Amino acid sequence: YDDRDGTIWMDGMMTRWRDAKVHILTHAMHYASSVFEGERAYNGKIFKSREHTERLHRSAKLIDFEIQWSVDEIEQVKAQVLRASRLKDAYIRAIAWRGAGEDMGVASARNPVHLAIAAWEWGAYYGDAKTKGAKLDISKWKRPSPETIPCQAKAAGLYMICTMSKHAAEAKGCSDAMMFDYRGYVAEATGANIFFVKDGEVHTPKPDCFLNGITRQTVIGMLQEKGIKVHERHIMPEELEGFEQCWLTGTAAEVTPVGQIGDYNFEVGALARDIAADYERLVRE
Ligand code: PMP
Repeated sequence: YDDRDGTIWMDGMMTRWRDAKVHILTHAMHYASSVFEGERAYNGKIFKSREHTERLHRSAKLIDFEIQWSVDEIEQVKAQVLRASRLKDAYIRAIAWRGAGEDMGVASARNPVHLAIAAWEWGAYYGDAKTKGAKLDISKWKRPSPETIPCQAKAAGLYMICTMSKHAAEAKGCSDAMMFDYRGYVAEATGANIFFVKDGEVHTPKPDCFLNGITRQTVIGMLQEKGIKVHERHIMPEELEGFEQCWLTGTAAEVTPVGQIGDYNFEVGALARDIAADYERLVRE
């Protein structure tokens, strides 16, 4: 991704893609002082753009730094970056981090906070799983307790266990991993929230120790509009056997049906397919 043509906005300037670099003593690289957003544009318009920028600001505050660009300014920059990319459908990545500076220890209050925004093409996150249903592994890593880390921040530090979980899953031929939380309840996948269907009603884990995704909230709204009951609650592992359908939601994942989690099988059923199609329509409205 680094050595290519294009432009990335970095700290107020449109920078050549291959020149958008940071110093090796960047605080974020050593101590994970970084927060980011993943967004998608459809037909030249970023879906839920402002919600993402607001979350970026909140994430920064949660990990103890402030982004010097306002939400309005970031909104303008994202539009500029998208235009410069010449893409109509694109993935947008905004990232804010503590840079190199006065301090190289754990504390870094005097180091500058940087911001960069890039846009590129990113097709289906789970390949052909959208039609066939994704196959998920069960991760050995648990989503941590809110007392150990600010779970509602989309912060780099929370992704270390996600990368390890996803690598283990891919080594077994799976598309992703489902993670339990620190109490043993079903939590989410490594970059997407999870939903289940049973007897015409929808069940989804209560987001009390992981990201309450923007797509998750959108999909809950869509289901409620259809008159479908949505239960946000703690889900025990032994319940997996009784669920009929399952899907994942996320900006990159969109709505992707799941066919298998470990030894449990799910049908790529009508509701999963309907919600996936409805979401595809909604993002292009
Ligand atoms: N959980 C995790 C760990 C994620 O990385 C993402 C993607 N941002 C989500 C859930 C879904 O969030 P959203 O729908 O806001 O993209």
